[in-house]
Amino acid sequence: MELDAFKVAVDAWLDEHEHELASDYEGGGTLDQQVAQLRKVMGMAYAAGFMRMGWPERAGGLGGSNLLRAYLGEVLTARDLVEAGFYSLPEVLAPTMIDYAPETLAAEMVPKLLSGEEIWCQGFSEPGTGSNLGSLACRATHTDAGWRINGQKVWTSLAQYAQRCVLLTRTGTLESAHRGITAMFIDMDSPGITVRPIETMHGAEEFCEVFYDDVVVPLDRVLGEVDGGWSIAMDLLPYERSTALWHRASYLHRRLEQLVSAAPAGTLDPTGVGEATQLLWAFRARSRATQRRLAAGETLGSETSIDKVLVATAEQAIFELVGEGLGPEVATGDDPVSARWRAEFLYSRAATIYGGSAEIQRNIIARRLLALGDDR
Ligand SMILES: Cc1cc2nc3c(=O)[nH]c(=O)nc-3n(C[C@H](O)[C@H](O)[C@H](O)COP(=O)(O)OP(=O)(O)OC[C@H]3O[C@@H](n4cnc5c(N)ncnc54)[C@H](O)[C@@H]3O)c2cc1C
Repeated sequence: MELDAFKVAVDAWLDEHEHELASDYEGGGTLDQQVAQLRKVMGMAYAAGFMRMGWPERAGGLGGSNLLRAYLGEVLTARDLVEAGFYSLPEVLAPTMIDYAPETLAAEMVPKLLSGEEIWCQGFSEPGTGSNLGSLACRATHTDAGWRINGQKVWTSLAQYAQRCVLLTRTGTLESAHRGITAMFIDMDSPGITVRPIETMHGAEEFCEVFYDDVVVPLDRVLGEVDGGWSIAMDLLPYERSTALWHRASYLHRRLEQLVSAAPAGTLDPTGVGEATQLLWAFRARSRATQRRLAAGETLGSETSIDKVLVATAEQAIFELVGEGLGPEVATGDDPVSARWRAEFLYSRAATIYGGSAEIQRNIIARRLLALGDDR
């Protein structure tokens, strides 16, 4: 289906099912409510066929351009039907499965993710291993029964809800750093996995510590080549900075508009609003080009670090305006609307951390794109 026809069909479907799709809570909702809402909306969009469009047929999709996925996420977030970050997790994890999992595994699993039947998580970061991912230590040892995994991950978003995890493990020596990493697809109900949620400063247990104690993983659950996991991580991270961020900007746009209309006249400094608006549109223009490059079959790489810096800067500028526009009451108000603005302000602090910190993105831009200094 072409993009224009897709937009018309999706919009008509959303109008028709407006009441069934809407959440049954006011404000941002609890994490449980957000996850339940996400699964409901994804399930309905999958059953209607829209969620399958833009994904390859060999993984249960209906084919077509990634621009279809970009539009679907844009409009679902613009209508406040899903939490943008959670909705976009398949944009990060499904391409990895499609490109690197055995074909039958991808065909079996990807539909479960797209339909909301399952939640998946991304087990990369460890205590002491975030930016310097190449030094990760969670160890996978080859045995006749399968890979035996021991180690700890941290900041694994939604691990307590997840049925599967894309996990990076060390299979080679630490000295071989980037070359000794292997990606695996893990069932989260495997014996030996312990998940401990961690509360973020905005009060939600959004991410977790995950402990792996003698967890046995079938040998055919390796993604790509043994010891070749570094290139999978490098391929995955640009996805985290492309369509997923396009969806996020749609959410930011809606919240900026809502803030401007909720703020009493004269409270918001027009210069601040102008700057936030300009930052957001700078990102959207950049991300539009990124979506089109993806649609043209280009491989995304380090240049998506620019997208990440732009969207994080815009997000922080927008939520910086909350106190000024809505007054100090928003810092303490118990009503769901105040609680949501407060949570979003606090969460915007994380925008320059998750998916690669702003400092690391700037290092990549300087070293790889501008050739300033060593590419380490
Ligand atoms: C909300 C949220 C959700 C997340 N979800 C997931 C998830 O689902 N799965 C997952 O695997 N991870 C997840 N993460 C973890 C995230 O990827 C890491 O937090 C991030 O990569 C930074 O790593 P770190 O926390 O270890 O910080 P560090 O790497 O220890 O960095 C600390 C500070 O030092 C700076 N710094 C580090 N190295 C350099 C350098 N070489 N040059 C300049 N500055 C440097 C960083 O920019 C940062 O300011 C999530 C994080 C957040 C906040």
